[in-house]
Amino acid sequence: MTEYTGSCLCGNIRYRATGEPTFPHFCTCHMCQRWSGAPVVSWVDFPLASVVFDGGSPTLHRTCETTQRGFCSVCGSGVFALDDGSEWISIAMGTLDDPDRLVPEAQSFPESAPTWLKVEAVDVNS
Ligand SMILES: [Zn+2]
Ligand SMILES: [Zn+2]
Repeated sequence: MTEYTGSCLCGNIRYRATGEPTFPHFCTCHMCQRWSGAPVVSWVDFPLASVVFDGGSPTLHRTCETTQRGFCSVCGSGVFALDDGSEWISIAMGTLDDPDRLVPEAQSFPESAPTWLKVEAVDVNS
């Protein structure tokens, strides 16, 4: 069984994901930029039922009509995004204990990226 673990900056929020990860990608939408304070956020989706939070409870903030984002109320790290009713949870790849295990293979909202940012997604299928 594959297992991915991660945490927020202070370690208050810890998670374990045992499902198969899918769609590792960069997002440069304006919402991700504001949420993170960074020009790009990398995301990977896990089956929601396979992710266990075994530390503190994430705080939820609704960022749009259909999506909530979870963060640590102690250190402020953004950890995940969750669409209402979805069976998938998007984990911010920067919170993974080993960020090298997955490689972003696409970029969402490239048109919203700062003009000075160079993002290079790796097409793993070619
Ligand atoms: Zn924290
Ligand atoms: Zn985004």
